[in-house]
Amino acid sequence: MHRPLKMDAQFIIKASLVFCALSAAFSFGGMFMPERVPLANPAGGLNLHEIGGHLIWGLLPGALFLSARYAVATGFFAVLIDSDHMIALFRLDALPRMSHSIAFAAISIVVLMLIFGRKDYRLGAAALAAVLAHLSFDTFAGNDGKFPLLVPFYGHAISFPNADWIFFEAAAAAVILAVTIMVRRQSRKLLAV
Ligand SMILES: [Zn+2]
Repeated sequence: MHRPLKMDAQFIIKASLVFCALSAAFSFGGMFMPERVPLANPAGGLNLHEIGGHLIWGLLPGALFLSARYAVATGFFAVLIDSDHMIALFRLDALPRMSHSIAFAAISIVVLMLIFGRKDYRLGAAALAAVLAHLSFDTFAGNDGKFPLLVPFYGHAISFPNADWIFFEAAAAAVILAVTIMVRRQSRKLLAV
């Protein structure tokens, strides 16, 4: 089944905007966490190395979707998680990197699937894999392997050594592979009916 390219592009842009807004909104939850700190200006994080690294780290496992639409969405989501930096523009005290967490992954899966399709399991997988791939690059790049992964159940940042990047990236790949196989099986069943 082939969709027109324009539809794929519109879908990716809309889903990315929602994901980006969710990440920024979720970051305000950091104001209620015990380890609040005055947030540093985020401008330094906006460089080509960061953006390119996150994009590639998302596209690589995303390729396992065997679908450009979901692969590109995974890459874009993996970059846009860092919109949680924007909270720093408000000069608030908060726990930084809130959306670098399992809870944010869960919320983004639910919201994206409610908006774009309750049966769009690949979109849900793209959101979860993008969070994992993002954490992988942050851990790999070394300056930032520290996230509140279990927020709000454990309101502190957890540190990961550089070498752990491979586990996050492998988990992202496993999520996508599992959903790709599931969706293929489903569509084969539908064709057989
Ligand atoms: Zn990050």
